[in-house]
Amino acid sequence: MNGDTPAAAGHAPRAIETAVLVVGAGPVGLTAAMQLAHRGNDVVVIEQRGADVPASAKCNHISARTMEIYRRLDVADAIRAEGLPDDFPNDGVYATRLTGYELTRFRMPCRRDRFDDHGYDDGDLPSPERAARVSQLYLEPVLRRHLRERFSQVPVLHETRFTGFEQHDDHVISHAVREDTGEELEIRSRYVIGADGASSSVRKALGLRLRGDDNLTRARTRLFRAPDLLSRFNYPRAWMNWFIVDDIWSSLIAIDGEELWNFHCFMPPTREFADLDLDKALRDALGVGPDFTYETVRDEDWIGRRLVAGTFQVGRVFLSGDAAHLWVPYGGYGMNAGIADVANLAWMMDAVLQGWAPESLLTAHDAERRPVTEQVSAFASNFVEVLQETESEVIEEDSAAGAAARRAFGQRLRDANIRSMVPTGLNFGYAYGTSPIVVHDGEEPPPFTMGDYQPSTAPGARLPHFWFADGESLYDALPDGFTLLRFDDNVDVAPLAAAAAERSVPLRVINVDPAEDVEKGIDLADLGYRHALVLARPDQHVAWRGAALPPDPGALLDQVRGAVTAQCDRPERQASRTLSR
Ligand SMILES: Cc1cc2nc3c(=O)[nH]c(=O)nc-3n(C[C@H](O)[C@H](O)[C@H](O)COP(=O)(O)OP(=O)(O)OC[C@H]3O[C@@H](n4cnc5c(N)ncnc54)[C@H](O)[C@@H]3O)c2cc1C
Repeated sequence: MNGDTPAAAGHAPRAIETAVLVVGAGPVGLTAAMQLAHRGNDVVVIEQRGADVPASAKCNHISARTMEIYRRLDVADAIRAEGLPDDFPNDGVYATRLTGYELTRFRMPCRRDRFDDHGYDDGDLPSPERAARVSQLYLEPVLRRHLRERFSQVPVLHETRFTGFEQHDDHVISHAVREDTGEELEIRSRYVIGADGASSSVRKALGLRLRGDDNLTRARTRLFRAPDLLSRFNYPRAWMNWFIVDDIWSSLIAIDGEELWNFHCFMPPTREFADLDLDKALRDALGVGPDFTYETVRDEDWIGRRLVAGTFQVGRVFLSGDAAHLWVPYGGYGMNAGIADVANLAWMMDAVLQGWAPESLLTAHDAERRPVTEQVSAFASNFVEVLQETESEVIEEDSAAGAAARRAFGQRLRDANIRSMVPTGLNFGYAYGTSPIVVHDGEEPPPFTMGDYQPSTAPGARLPHFWFADGESLYDALPDGFTLLRFDDNVDVAPLAAAAAERSVPLRVINVDPAEDVEKGIDLADLGYRHALVLARPDQHVAWRGAALPPDPGALLDQVRGAVTAQCDRPERQASRTLSR
């Protein structure tokens, strides 16, 4: 290999062996490790940052779908407990300035009222979970702690930088170097997950490029501390606050609900970063004078892009999260999409590692996730147009004309942004409608849109959630393997159970009597349950449904576990790649 790592004189690299190497301990890498460890697999995580180097504060919206995934890992409550105080409204507001006029408000409840949210803009979700507005700054330590406490067998090696790999027929040898000591590591694993972010070394080592538009918008962000800012709001406080002053759009996000704030300033296309006076833009947006003081914690520039890797798998190496896709953060979905990536990949990898599915199953990951990702990236990019909106000249006037302009602009902003503020379709509506391991029956999953979610049991769709009569969530009843929901106990399911046992496929049958077992007022047909049998995968997506078992239940199981290799050919394997820093 053409290594860039300094050979530690006279020492052979330290050898480590594991089933899966995860590169990157951001939210996606940590979640991948937890998912695999939760299912009993060996994992090692390497992370180039030191353990005490804080994450960026930029990511703040953890979707309800992601919280469903964290609920299964028993970490959702710990995440929800972080960030804003119990009574801090999670509202999103558009205003002329923080000290100016509110234009429109998206009502989202504080943590205290989160599960009593009827009537809120993001209330009544079709889920046992709710979105959490918790910064990545707090999320990552919770995930790290959970990994340490629940899965203490998983080493997270900090200050350890991935430098390259060689792929072999049945394993990968990855190379890494300790940033502090220069010690070299050689990690042998069956698979590698590159969750190492936007400038992914794993992606570069694979020789893959991101494709798309790499400059849709540019922003400069300042994380700052200002204990007296809360008292300056001229409207009821809110989690996210958008302003337009002159031609500059900006947003202010409450990080701890007390003194820590993140300010994003979006550059108009005609301006360069060098021309931007960030302090002035911040003061203009807040509408504060020299008496306002604050302490800058960190500045960060970022570029809004729409880029997706050409494939998420090369041989035994996979890309997840920002390593695989990047888009502008409207809808707050980059990390959430990465969590969905690894929820999808982890059950497939587990199935292969535990021996109940062939390796060909893994090719379904790219076939399922990449089309979804391409669609999401298009949704998010369309919202850049909103930033081209301009305001009326009288909008800040204390006059009837000013009030009328504010009402009109506020309504336009509301109409344009409700889908990005409350992206229910984005969160729950993604489906694997063209997957080779889903048994299609002629009905497509409903259209995937940003705003609207229509529950459906069409194969590939997310299993519609319902509550049992005893108050239990369907999702809490689902095991980690496959689940056959049987809505009519006259239908014989023994042949499927026998075929599953023969193949060691984990399968549980849950009998549901629609008249007795389901919470009163829930009509299962409205949720799309119109078949006696619905087979759910370990990632809560529908694999198959029917009025009765098919004549050959073994063939059904072989398709959903990727054993029908004709439809699941492996992408080419790349033998060996190493990086320069
Ligand atoms: C302004 C803004 C707001 C956003 N808001 C949201 C939001 O509200 N919700 C949302 O879902 N998304 C949001 N996003 C997107 C979100 O921040 C990212 O999608 C998310 O951080 C990606 O997580 P990740 O784990 O894939 O990558 P990262 O968070 O980048 O983590 C990658 C990790 O890999 C490590 N690493 C890199 N190279 C190596 C190497 N060679 N060896 C070892 N380790 C390595 C890095 O140190 C890092 O810790 C936002 C983005 C921006 C810019």
